[in-house]
Amino acid sequence: MEKLSNPQETIRVLQEYQFNFQKKFGQNFLIDERVLTRILDAASITEDDCVLEIGPGIGTMTQHLALRAGKVICVEIDPNLIPILKDTLSSYSNITVIHGDILKINLEELIEKEAEGRPLKVVANLPYYITTPIIMGLFESGVNLAGITVMVQKEVADRMKSEPGTKDYGALSLAVQYYSKPTIAANVPPNCFIPRPKVGSAVIHLERYQTPPVDVIDEKLMFRLIRASFNQRRKTLVNSLKNSPELNFSKEEILQVIKSLGLPETVRGETLSLEKFASLSNAFSNL
Ligand code: SAM
Repeated sequence: MEKLSNPQETIRVLQEYQFNFQKKFGQNFLIDERVLTRILDAASITEDDCVLEIGPGIGTMTQHLALRAGKVICVEIDPNLIPILKDTLSSYSNITVIHGDILKINLEELIEKEAEGRPLKVVANLPYYITTPIIMGLFESGVNLAGITVMVQKEVADRMKSEPGTKDYGALSLAVQYYSKPTIAANVPPNCFIPRPKVGSAVIHLERYQTPPVDVIDEKLMFRLIRASFNQRRKTLVNSLKNSPELNFSKEEILQVIKSLGLPETVRGETLSLEKFASLSNAFSNL
């Protein structure tokens, strides 16, 4: 069978099955072979790897993954794509297709059953409407994750990589950089997809840290502090933390902690690095 990365073959399959794209599932299928190769290279896929592909679509990237990886597991939400995948992936023996919602599936159970102890690499052209919950869900799951290499909206890739004090810096940058080292592997224009998305895209590789780059006594508290700091961007850190429904510290305690770190009372959350958030969180833990 002709590879789906040939756009004519994609069109043939879509027509054969009279497939209708569903906007609600963020369906923009890749039709550019060079981009597919860039994604697989950035993920450094080898035959020792078990790969999870989120949203295989009609199986374009899945075919390439199957040739390089030891095992490929894919999870697709759209029931109309399942019979198509059965057809387009029929000549590969190392693929498991699961019909389900990646945000609802018990990932730990699935990976334990399928990965046979190998660390997991996640590779995907993500449905953009759920990029953040997918990435945070993967990091926070108990899965033995080696890395994530995904196509995301360009603006979101920039946010993941951004530094303190810049306009893109936020809770997502800190969360991603706590768990992984981000690198942008490619910028991808809309004409590499069918249908064309309205936004620019980028491939980002997130290399999972074995141990996080900062020591935190209470991770959950640090993330509550981070969320509170960015929920009210133009407010001072003191006011953001005091107003947060997720936190229960008095103004005096907050001022005491800020002072103990040598920060001015007027400091804003968006200027603090991950190291500073870790110190802030540890100072609250030690109150
Ligand atoms: N991988 C294919 C490609 O590159 O051509 C398709 C990528 S398309 C951007 C996103 C895919 O994710 C679609 O196939 C869509 O149906 C699927 N999807 C959307 N939401 C999902 C969810 N919650 N769980 C699993 N798959 C989902």
